[in-house]
This record gives sequence, C-alpha cells and structure tokens, in this order.
Amino acid sequence: MEHKNFIANRIADDIASGRTPKIVLRFPPEPNGYLHLGHAKSIVLHDLLAEEFDAELTLRFDDTNPKKESTEYVDAISHDAAWLTPRFSRTRWTSAYFEDIHRCAVHLIERGLAYVDDSDPETMRLMRGDFGRGGTASPGRALSIPENLALFARMRAGEMAEGAAVLRARIDLVHPNMNLRDPVLYRVSHAEHHATGKDWPIYPMYDFAHPIADALEGVTHSLCTLEFEDHRPLYDWVIEHCFAVLGARPVQIEFARLEVEGIVLSKRKLNALVESGHVAGWDSPALPTLAGLRARGYTPAVLREFAVRCGFTKANSTVPAETMAEVVRDILSPVASRRMAVADPVEFVIDNLPESFEVEVPNHPKDTSFGTRRRLFTAKLWIDRADIRTEAEPDFWRVYPGNWVRLKHGLNVLIKAVETEDGKIVRVVSEADIGSRDLKAARHKAKTAIHWLSDAESFAVPAQHYGPLLDVDGECDVNCVTRTTMLVERGLEAPAHYEFERLGYFYFAEGILHHLASLKTAGARTR
Ligand code: ATP
Ligand code: MG
Repeated sequence: MEHKNFIANRIADDIASGRTPKIVLRFPPEPNGYLHLGHAKSIVLHDLLAEEFDAELTLRFDDTNPKKESTEYVDAISHDAAWLTPRFSRTRWTSAYFEDIHRCAVHLIERGLAYVDDSDPETMRLMRGDFGRGGTASPGRALSIPENLALFARMRAGEMAEGAAVLRARIDLVHPNMNLRDPVLYRVSHAEHHATGKDWPIYPMYDFAHPIADALEGVTHSLCTLEFEDHRPLYDWVIEHCFAVLGARPVQIEFARLEVEGIVLSKRKLNALVESGHVAGWDSPALPTLAGLRARGYTPAVLREFAVRCGFTKANSTVPAETMAEVVRDILSPVASRRMAVADPVEFVIDNLPESFEVEVPNHPKDTSFGTRRRLFTAKLWIDRADIRTEAEPDFWRVYPGNWVRLKHGLNVLIKAVETEDGKIVRVVSEADIGSRDLKAARHKAKTAIHWLSDAESFAVPAQHYGPLLDVDGECDVNCVTRTTMLVERGLEAPAHYEFERLGYFYFAEGILHHLASLKTAGARTR
C-alpha cells in the first residue's frame, strides 16, 4: 500500500516487519523562541503520522542550552502546539534526563569511548581539520580511563570554568564526516537553567542528548529536518554505544525544511526583531510565528492544509508565497460570510431616487444556511475608486460618464458626471432607471455590476495588509505592514472571518481588519 509520504512508507514497513509494533513520535522544539510556520509543518507531519499509525505523540522540550531558554518560551510553545493539534498526549523535557545522559557519558568514558579535552576552543577547532585535512589528536585523547573519569567528575562538580574543558567522543579524527571527528558531548556552563536551576554546571550537546532522550521515551522514529542528515551517523553511534544503558534503537529520518518565498523562518532572526523593538512582541501579526499568524487570523485548518499542500519530501524547495493565499481561499470560502466593503471610497450620488429601499442579499453565494441580510439602498452611496474613470477607456465597462452600470442587488444607473478636484476623483453623479430593480424591466443593459455601500449602512475600520517579511542581507525588513482604512457594512461580528466581495478574505478582531488573501478573480475583474 502507498502511503501519503516517504516517512509514512518507512513507518509502515517497520510495522510490517515487526521492528516497531507500536509507534512513538516526538516533536522536539528548543524553548528559545516562539514556534513559527516552519514548526507548524513539522507538527502537522507528526500529527498526520500519529493519526495514521495510532502513534503516541510527545511534545518534548529540548532544553539543553540554558542561556537562550526560558519558561516564557515553554509556555508559548505549549500553547501554540496545542492550538494546532490536540494530539500531543504528553509533555517531556530533555532536562529531566540529565542524570541518564550523564550516566551514558560515564558509560562511554569507562569504555574508552570518550575523553576530556581541555584545549582552548580555538585550538580545538584548528585541530579538527577541515574537508581536505584530517584532524589531529589533542593531549586529552591519550589520557587513561581513570584520568578521564576523574576529570569528568571535576566538570560535573562545577570545578571547571566555562570553556575550560569539554567531553568528546572518541570516534575518528580523520573521518570525512566532520560530525564524527571526536564531537563534543558535554560542555561547561554555569548559566541557570529554567527547570534545573543551578543543579548542573555541565550540559549535553544536542547530538548527544537527542538520541538518548528519544531512546528513553521509546521514540521509534525521530523526525528532523535535512540539515541533520550529516548528524545521523553520530545519532546512530550514540544509540549503538549506549545501548547497554538505553535498551532501545530509535532511528532518525530527515525531511525537507519549509521555506516560503519572502518569509523569514528563523527563531534567531525573529528574536532580533522582537528584541530591537521593531515589532511589539513575538505575537505581532507582522511575524510568521504561530502566535502572530493566529493574531492575523490564520486558523489551524489553514495552517494544516498549507503544510499538506507544501508536501513532505526529502528535497528542499521554496514554496511560492501565493500558495498560502490559495489555501486561505480554499479553506475560508465555504465558512466565511460574505459582506460588502469598499477599499478606497468615492461618493456616489443618485439624483432621482425617490426614496431609500431595502434589498435582501444572501450571506453566502452557495450555502443558504448562512441566511440573508437586509441592506439599505440610498441616494448616497460609496463605491471603489478602482471602479471609476473620468472618461471611456478601451475594455473598461464600469463607471465613466455616459455609461450604464448596475449597482449589484440594486438597480441600473446612467453615469452623468465624474467630478474631480485637483485631478482627483471626488464624486460621481448618476441617474437611476427606477424600474430596473427588476432586471427584466431595465431600459438599458448594463455590462457589469459594481459593488457599493450605502452611507447609512457603512462604517470605517482600520485595515492591515501584509507584504513579505523579507530577508535583506541577513536582516529582516519589517516594513511589511500597510495600514489603510476601509468602509465596511455595519454589524460585523468579531472575531470572525469575512469574504468582502471583490476584495478578498479578512479577519476582523479587536477593531482591526487583517487582510488574509485577495480573491483569485480580483485581477481578472479590471474591466
Ligand atoms: P530555528 O532555526 O527557527 O531556530 P530550529 O530547527 O532550530 O528552528 P527547533 O526548536 O530546534 O528549531 O525545532 C523543532 C523542530 O522543528 C525540529 O525538529 C526542526 O527540524 C523543526 N523545524 C524547525 N524549522 C522548520 C522548518 N522551517 N520546516 C520544517 N521543520 C522545521
Ligand atoms: Mg534549533
């Protein structure tokens, strides 16, 4: 049977062969920032696999780097992960395994597979060599097992200064894969840890802690992004040589990172924007964090569909920015109420309307369960500047002097004048064919229907439009929010999603309209 992606195929094989009867997965964020759209892709992948294989899914905080981590991030990540999916059945912390990880380190030293290196960091870097040149041994490599045990005990006891010594695996100093050239397993750090406080003056490196945490949790398939492919041999080395302590053999599988055109997906860069005060916080709607995307009005359903549409593959690629707009349209179209809005209002007067009248309009073009609403048609309306020209133009069928147009759901009007001040259109004057409320009775055919708001039913709302959050020379450009005022129908609920006819999808919350996607037809309707 073909499964939805290559990882699902692999897991299915492992179940079929009996290697892993019960599947356990984990999503392992480091609590050094908020989750972003890239993490959403990983969470959705884990979620789909957990659903398909009835797997256990753990939220694991990979908290081995106390200097950058905090409980604020732990709380935000927990909240955002649960917002995206209810499938996380337990939360674990790598820091809860510090004793076990330490035991694995001692186990390796006892077998001559790890040693304490007190070279200064720069010397150590030079001695690892590079792609064309093998590494050379530092003096620590020649120490006896008891000497290494004693030195590591001193590291553990807090007797070493930061940077004074590290514990390294003894693997292969000339290995073509740099990750295997006696990688660092433990470093000294006297920073206070958000969970373990001052208990530990040493912290395990990601490459050492990760496989151990996976094994201890019974994780069967440890999914990560492609940049860890070169680290897999080290993952396997740790599992192999600590098997006597751990008793489990998880496997690492890599998939392509999500990259979206024009969107910065890096906690480090997003953190810089927050720290420098360019945005109010991690939950600013300008940011592609889950908290920011939620504030902007993206729903879990939209983000899930986006992840699925981007696909789970082994090849890196950049997703076009338009993909998100497509997903928004597809997901929101069936669930968003239709309303009228005018982006750039110009006064529109009907000279001869004897009295206002009400029209009943559907709240959704396809789904009658949305019901209808009554709108007021009056002699003073607002229409969009984009619908108006001062004179006829080829292929332009909308508002210009002498043309007949239909006011959607209303009646047909003849445009008598388009008034300007200093070259700017300020007012349109028209005359109605009163009988054309019944389209069949219209005296003149109108080639197109335009949208309108009556002065009596409209109110002005601030709107935010989002451009790409670009990465310019390694720096984020946050001048990506444009603010406008839109006229919309009274009576919008909040928070809620709306499709404004002709304009697109918006999220209305706390008095602000957030633009999520334009309509596909918006460009085609320029006539
Ligand atoms: P960043 O570079 O933004 O800090 P990270 O990979 O360092 O991201 P982690 O907290 O370590 O962030 O990530 C947790 C999990 O989310 C990892 O398994 C990682 O592979 C995955 N992940 C992070 N960014 C992306 C992305 N852009 N696409 C897919 N998965 C991602
Ligand atoms: Mg990271």
